[in-house]
Amino acid sequence: MDKILRIDMGAEGGPKVTGAPVGEYAGLGGRALTSALVSKEVPPLCHPLGVDNKLVIAPGLLSGTAAATSGRLSVGCKSPLTGGIKEANAGGQPSQMLARLGYAAIVLEGKPKDDTLYKVLINKDGVKISPADDLKMLGNYDTVEKLKGEYGDKIGVISIGPAGEMKMAAASIACTDMELRPTRHAGRGGVGAVMGSKGVKAIVLDDTGTKMRSPKDPEAFKDANRRWVDGLRKHAVTGQGLPAYGTNVLTNVINEAGGYPTHNFMWGRFEGCSKISGETQAELENQRGGEGSATHGCHRGCIIRCSGTFYDKDGHYLTKQPEYETVWAHGGNCGIDDLDSIALLDRLDDDFGLDTIEMGATIAVAMEAGLAKFGDAEAAVSLLKEVGKGSPLGRILGNGAAVTGKVFGVERVPVVKGQSMPAYDPRAVQGIGVTYATSTMGADHTAGYAVATNILGVGGKVDPLKPQGQAELSRNLQITTAAIDSTGMCLFIAFAIMDQPETFQALIDTINAFHGLKLTADDVTALGKSVLKNEREFNTKAGFTSEHDRLPAFFKDESLAPHNIVFNVPDKDLDSVFNW
Ligand code: SF4
Repeated sequence: MDKILRIDMGAEGGPKVTGAPVGEYAGLGGRALTSALVSKEVPPLCHPLGVDNKLVIAPGLLSGTAAATSGRLSVGCKSPLTGGIKEANAGGQPSQMLARLGYAAIVLEGKPKDDTLYKVLINKDGVKISPADDLKMLGNYDTVEKLKGEYGDKIGVISIGPAGEMKMAAASIACTDMELRPTRHAGRGGVGAVMGSKGVKAIVLDDTGTKMRSPKDPEAFKDANRRWVDGLRKHAVTGQGLPAYGTNVLTNVINEAGGYPTHNFMWGRFEGCSKISGETQAELENQRGGEGSATHGCHRGCIIRCSGTFYDKDGHYLTKQPEYETVWAHGGNCGIDDLDSIALLDRLDDDFGLDTIEMGATIAVAMEAGLAKFGDAEAAVSLLKEVGKGSPLGRILGNGAAVTGKVFGVERVPVVKGQSMPAYDPRAVQGIGVTYATSTMGADHTAGYAVATNILGVGGKVDPLKPQGQAELSRNLQITTAAIDSTGMCLFIAFAIMDQPETFQALIDTINAFHGLKLTADDVTALGKSVLKNEREFNTKAGFTSEHDRLPAFFKDESLAPHNIVFNVPDKDLDSVFNW
């Protein structure tokens, strides 16, 4: 991982490839690299779909190694959804492959002069770019099938669907999983629209003939990785809950806590919850797909293995096991309590290349506007198909909840910095409200998952209904998360490292043994702070002020049942999150 591959999509005579040493970005990976490069090289006031934006795709510091669960891929740019900096990351195979091919990052620059669509092949022999007009407006599934026919089944694919080609602000970038299906998405912030604006439909990775990256100190690495694996296996969440039920294990838990946003954030509990819970979903998957089919890894080397497969009523593959946030977005938030419908919506999102959270939130806003009734699954499917078709209505919906709310005159629109809130109501989980409000990314649970401490009792306990301690909790989590997102590690490792100091140490030892470093826990904190500093500076120059670090007014005005509580963390606490 010693070079950066830059592709100028707007060069005279067609796309031009240059490979250069990592240079000033040496020692950075994942989010640290994408955010450093975007904040240094992208003008903060540029148009996100214009010639000056750059799309940076970077594996983490430990991707492509034998370190367990290290295969997340970071995607960074200026976001068409928020107007600020963006890092969205995804599982799947591409991160490991890109790292093994020796690249610290791919940077798509410039803008094509015509509407030719391209595909990029990267293998051990180099890089080849060719027109891909035969892939135009294909869904991600058909795109991958065609590429498989051309390049074989040992590849990994990073691609966009029609939503990305139409440059919708809810468009995602798909990464293929171990079964070569486009199910793992860098979902948030419209990164797919930026890839579409660069005229790139797909990046095909073939790591045949490459080797796993080798550590500077193999013995120390082996020992640290063994302790790392032991730590992940022994924690109740990473060793038992997630492997058994996937992320949807949270549905019952969050509903019970009264923080499950229902009917566009109207209530905190959903009466159809048990029909769409992780337990029900696992039972259904085992019934249809055979016992033990519930979960597996989304990439080689994941030992948590929270991913799974959803089969239709005839036992045929329909989609990957929908994540908790997806089940919530298309389920409880829209009043839908049918797992088959939710799975179909997930499949359509993945195929069109859309963020499931943004689309679920958008459909709920459309329901509030009267375009469909809450609970009407068929109507939700029809609305989503409009997005895939690119009809005028579909183009409105495909640009997310904020645009949809504005167009249809809805006041209750649950967004921060233009990005939809995920599956935890900030009134019943006040710590996550602080993260939603202040994150550099817009409303994003993964930026500082205070749910862990507020609700799950991981990393201590802070009362979810009281304002005290929430700013400090969110600050510490945002710093830690920014560092984790730079390693290539899946964020779910946070459960184990927050509760088990020896597991956190094992992770640091793994990084040190691999790279020949002597990092301490303080250095990891410093890395997280430097990532956030880059991102905050970019956003300030893009025009964001403390007024943007706020939740929509209705979270302070409307109390949420069953706790009958409003979001009550004071503004001064929100403004203190980045004071360290
Ligand atoms: S824990 Fe789940 S999401 Fe994370 S890398 Fe493993 S399978 Fe993928």
